Amino acid sequence: MAKILIIAEQFKGQLRASAGELMAAAQQIGGDVDGAVFGPGAADAAGQLAGYGLGKVLAVDCGCEYSGDGFAAAVSDAVSAGGYEFVILMQTSFGRDLGARLAARLDAGWINDVIALEGSGSDVVASKPLYAGKVISKLKFNGSGLKVLSLRPRNFEAVQASGASAAVEQLGSGMQCKARCTTLEAKEAGFIDLKDADIIVSGGRGIGGAEGYEAIRNFANEIGAAMGASRAIVDAGWIDHSYQVGQTGKVVNPQLYIAAGISGAIQHLAGMQTSKVIVAINNNESAPIFKVADYGIVGDLFEVLPELGRQIKAARQ
Ligand SMILES: Cc1cc2nc3c(=O)[nH]c(=O)nc-3n(C[C@H](O)[C@H](O)[C@H](O)COP(=O)(O)OP(=O)(O)OC[C@H]3O[C@@H](n4cnc5c(N)ncnc54)[C@H](O)[C@@H]3O)c2cc1C
Repeated sequence: MAKILIIAEQFKGQLRASAGELMAAAQQIGGDVDGAVFGPGAADAAGQLAGYGLGKVLAVDCGCEYSGDGFAAAVSDAVSAGGYEFVILMQTSFGRDLGARLAARLDAGWINDVIALEGSGSDVVASKPLYAGKVISKLKFNGSGLKVLSLRPRNFEAVQASGASAAVEQLGSGMQCKARCTTLEAKEAGFIDLKDADIIVSGGRGIGGAEGYEAIRNFANEIGAAMGASRAIVDAGWIDHSYQVGQTGKVVNPQLYIAAGISGAIQHLAGMQTSKVIVAINNNESAPIFKVADYGIVGDLFEVLPELGRQIKAARQ
């Protein structure tokens, strides 16, 4: 039986829902599963992670919100001491950095950006998109050493916590972190992270200028959506890069993606085309975005979004 360590993420003591996706991948591989969670709030989040029926949970709090070298050293020690065969993280900024460091430190195989797993144990086969999603590659680990996997968010059906309990081990005091991230703050009140969002509304160059993003913001607030952007408006300085969806931005997979004033360039599609339902609003009926859209609205986004907001609000009442 494989020994598996899942590394979950938390923010201010609240476990991220992606813990259920990590657990789903661990169950597919099969084996004894332990968990780890890092940063201030780790103790609270560890209690929530324990509810997934794990053997034990490591709560690592050294006072840093993030430390690449410190966290990687802590996981490396835990992996060596615990004899784990698999470590599973999310393909987020956190998981990308930590996964790479861990694989390098422990001379492990690392398959990143995994969207599906087939088979089980050491023979598990991981699927990973390449060339902006045009090709799906299938990868297998070689040998019997440590294997690190990072999962593209929202591609594994999250397992629900069962309410079971597990022993929580507190670690982190006295850890020597060379580089420390000391504060993490949400950008604005009510901010919904793109990678956690069920609904995303993104704006493109069709908004006409920085002030045009207010139409996206108002609509997003009205329906409770996260906000995204095409690279064109990020490059123009109309919105921060952290909102960018696409090949060189964030890869998202919400239940509903609404693209307003976005043409549908291949690099944008690479970040959102696996969304469950895609709605495109564009005043050019020939815009390529309509080829991937489940629903297309030909019209001016400044007229369509407020009306759509009113209709959604009315339908929800
Ligand atoms: C290496 C590389 C990486 C890239 N990475 C990314 C990436 O990660 N993400 C990304 O998005 N792009 C990326 N790009 C850029 C990409 O190629 C496109 O240039 C970009 O996506 C275009 O953004 P856009 O759709 O907002 O703008 P445009 O292509 O200019 O489209 C604007 C659209 O708005 C419509 N419109 C105009 N006014 C209105 C209105 N009032 N109402 C409704 N519709 C209106 C127009 O008909 C048009 O279809 C990358 C490019 C390269 C070369």
